[in-house]
This record gives sequence, structure tokens and C-alpha cells, in this order.
Amino acid sequence: MTYYGLHALQHRGQEASGIVTSEFLAEKQKWRFNAFKGNGLVADVFKDASILKDQLKGSSAIGHNRYSTTGSADNKFNIQPFVVNYKAGNLALGHNGNLTNFHTLRESLQSEGTIFQSTTDSEIILHLTARSKHEGQIHQLKEALDAVEGAYSLVILTDTSLIAARDPYGLRPLCLGRIETGSAKGPAYVVASETCAFDLVGATYVGEVEPGEILVIDQEGVQSGTLKSYHISKTPAEPHHCIFEYIYFSRPDSKIFGENVDKVRRKLGKLLAAESPVRPDSEDDRVVVISVPDSSNTATLGFVTEANKMGDDVRLEIGLIRSHYVGRTFIQPDQNSRELKVKTKFNTVKGVIKGRKVVIVDDSIVRGTTSKQLVKMIREAEPKEIHFRVTSPPIKFPCYYGMDFPSREELIANRCNSDVDKIAEELGVDSLAYLSMEKLLEAAPNGGRNYCTACFSGIYPVPIDRQLTKDANDT
Ligand code: SF4
Repeated sequence: MTYYGLHALQHRGQEASGIVTSEFLAEKQKWRFNAFKGNGLVADVFKDASILKDQLKGSSAIGHNRYSTTGSADNKFNIQPFVVNYKAGNLALGHNGNLTNFHTLRESLQSEGTIFQSTTDSEIILHLTARSKHEGQIHQLKEALDAVEGAYSLVILTDTSLIAARDPYGLRPLCLGRIETGSAKGPAYVVASETCAFDLVGATYVGEVEPGEILVIDQEGVQSGTLKSYHISKTPAEPHHCIFEYIYFSRPDSKIFGENVDKVRRKLGKLLAAESPVRPDSEDDRVVVISVPDSSNTATLGFVTEANKMGDDVRLEIGLIRSHYVGRTFIQPDQNSRELKVKTKFNTVKGVIKGRKVVIVDDSIVRGTTSKQLVKMIREAEPKEIHFRVTSPPIKFPCYYGMDFPSREELIANRCNSDVDKIAEELGVDSLAYLSMEKLLEAAPNGGRNYCTACFSGIYPVPIDRQLTKDANDT
């Protein structure tokens, strides 16, 4: 089940994958944790079926797909879930997000003699838990989580329980699902970043793991029907969910932060069409709208629906074809050729584009290098004009909460001093329009309250370690 869950969540991380199970050894009357991890996609790491059947036995499991935001991508010690055995038993942890005070905590732990195996921020949570003087793993974990700051959605396995925990701001998503087993032992519970993982394993969505919540799934809770829930001390009055999950990162068939991603993404496209329309030149003219697949498909549908509703003759076309077989490990014939890199991933459908006024809808522009190459390719297909529409505001600031954006200097919006005409010129388009911040918030549930928008606004809801901002600007 965990394997299928990881498979559904492959888009959240493609560098490495791992599963840890807890198995009770009746003859020794003790618990054993089994782990299997490796670099690559889920299907490659677990390509041998015997790994799942023979090596990963047990009654509970957690898994993790890695997408590195701290720590080297090549270091095998950075592959999660991490497993430790300490005075209270076994403990395994999978972490999504970024801790913003990890430099300070790591330095202080190291000065007291703690030896780190990995170079990630996530390992700190294990050390803090293991060092706690409290009785009981939940209280030890709670002490650790009271000390860390930043973004974390966690799945934790102990000998007798599965724990799901989320940072007080609920920056990253984390959902709870249930599977009716028909067994007297009660239902099975599953936890995942996105609900698309539940669909694959036949689980029904129960709800969100609340911001600041530590939810314990153990035999007692499963049988009684009431799971134990604890709260991190620093839980603020208002959450700040990552709005970029709706714009780009999550799958459109998922429900996160209590709302369907598809619904929000369509709305982003609709609001963009209303805010920055592209109209046919004459009654005989027709505008062709194409998405940058796959992440912009849903928003593009919204864009076209709204444009048609406004009476504009625009048509949705498949103008860009994406190869699904170019992974991170694909060997580029010429590593330095940005153009070839984009061409191995995308190709144009020339008949759709030639002689037309073309609108490209994309979810965001980060460095601008891919967008620039895409525009160049589309230009080669001889359109009449190219109009670029983006379903988010300009990204001007780095993310310290788990999204791998480059330093400020590399962001195109920064390099061009937020001058949209200058960005349009650099991309080589006839016009460029971003969705306004006001409309972005309008598209998000709850009128856009309770969201982090720091990469657009520079307003960071959680304080950032000075060392972290220095690192980001050095990268
Ligand atoms: S800075 Fe941007 S990407 Fe990072 S958590 Fe906030 S909204 Fe999401």
C-alpha cells in the first residue's frame, strides 16, 4: 500500500525513494524495523517484487519520495525515511518541508557531541526526540517539535504507532484517510501529502491533519474509533498554507488544504483570462490557446472557458507535446545545451500554431530559461503572434519552506526589476501578463486568507535563520 502511495506521489520527489516497515517478531517478542531505500523513481527503487514481499514485512509502514531542498542529492544518507533505535524503541521519520532554524539547532547539537549521519535538516527532529528527558515517545516528539521552526509535514513510525504531525502554520499539506477492512481490529488509516494517493489504495478522505497537530494512530485509537491528538505549543491563530501547492506542485486530482486542486487551478485560469484577455484581431480570426503540459493543463481549461464566456473566439489546442520519458537521470547529449534539454522534453504541433495568434498558459516563471526556449520553439512553428499568460504573480523571492527555487539573483522577475515589458522582451513574446496577487488570493479558498505568498510578496510568515538566507543567496 505504501509503495502504491509513493507511486501516486512521484511528482513530489524524483531523486530517491524509501519505505520502512515495523514488524513484530513473535519468537523474540520484539519489534524490528525493516528499511529499503535507493536513488531514483519509485518503480526503479522497488523494481524487484521480492523487496516488498520478503524484505519489507510488517504491520505498519511509512514511505518517502525525496526532492532535495537541503542536503546533497547524491548523499545516500540523505534518503528518507530515517531510522534510529534509541532508549524508547525504534523510530522512523519521513519529512516534507524545510526547517528554518536548523543551522542554529544543528550547531548547538553538534557542540554538545551529537553526530549527524545526513546533511539534511530532517535528522534534527530525531536527535531532539531521542535526547528528550520526557517519558513516552509522544511527549519526546512534542518537545522536539516545540523546538523546530519552519515547514514540516511528518510521518513517524514507532514500534506500536503511526504518527502524523504538521507544523503550526500548516505550510505543507498532510491528509488523513481510512480504509474499511471489515476486520474486528477496526479500519486501517493512511496518511499522505495529497489525496491522489488515497484513490490508488482505496482509502476515503477523512480530513486534514490540522496545523500544529500530532495525530497518533495506534491499536487503541483504531479500535475505539477516536485517534489521540496532541498539539504543538506554538500553534498560531491562523495557518499559512503554501499557495504554490495550488498553482503548481500538487496534482489536480488531489484535495489539499480542504479544497480540490483542480477547482482552484481552473479558477486561476479563469481569473487570468478576465484580467488579461487575448482577443482575435477580426471576426474571421481565431486565437489558439495552448498549455505547457502537464502542470498548466487545468488552468488553461479555465482560461479558455472564461474567454469563451466573454465572447472571444479562442480555441484550446494541444500545441505542445511533452515526453514523459525524460527523467532526472536522462543523459543529455550535450549538458550545456539548454535548448536541447527543453527539446528533449517538449515538441510543438506545427499545424496548430502556424499563422495563428497563440496564447501560451503557464503556471509560473522561475528562472525563465525554459520559458525562453519554449517560446523560441513556438516561434519556429511560425505563429502570427505569441502571448504568454502566467497563472501566478512574478516569483521574486526564494522559498525557505520546501520549494526548490534558486537564489533571488537567478529569478527572472528580479533580474528584470519586476518590469513585465523587460521580461517579455527577454522571453521574446509579443505580450506577457501575470495574474495579480489580488486575483491569486481570490482564487484560493477562504478568500485567500491563511496562505503563504512569500515567494511573490516577500512576506515570510515564519522567521528565517540568517544563515539560511545567506546560503540561498550563495547558491
Ligand atoms: S514561499 Fe512560495 S513556495 Fe514557499 S511556501 Fe510560501 S508560497 Fe509556497
